[in-house]
Amino acid sequence: MGDVVPFRRPSTAEKHAGNTLCRRGFHKWEVVQDKQFDVREGKLVTIYRCARCGKTRVDAS
Ligand SMILES: [Zn+2]
Repeated sequence: MGDVVPFRRPSTAEKHAGNTLCRRGFHKWEVVQDKQFDVREGKLVTIYRCARCGKTRVDAS
């Protein structure tokens, strides 16, 4: 007695179910707005959003 094996709870994994790829950096990017003029950048940018986790990314063209 005395040896307690730490048991990993699956709750975190369940929360992020389907986002495993996202957490690894493999997002499912979808174009939200193509060739939008970004005033701050002063040029055309394309806005992407991940279909899984909702993270957004702006790509300057
Ligand atoms: Zn993602």
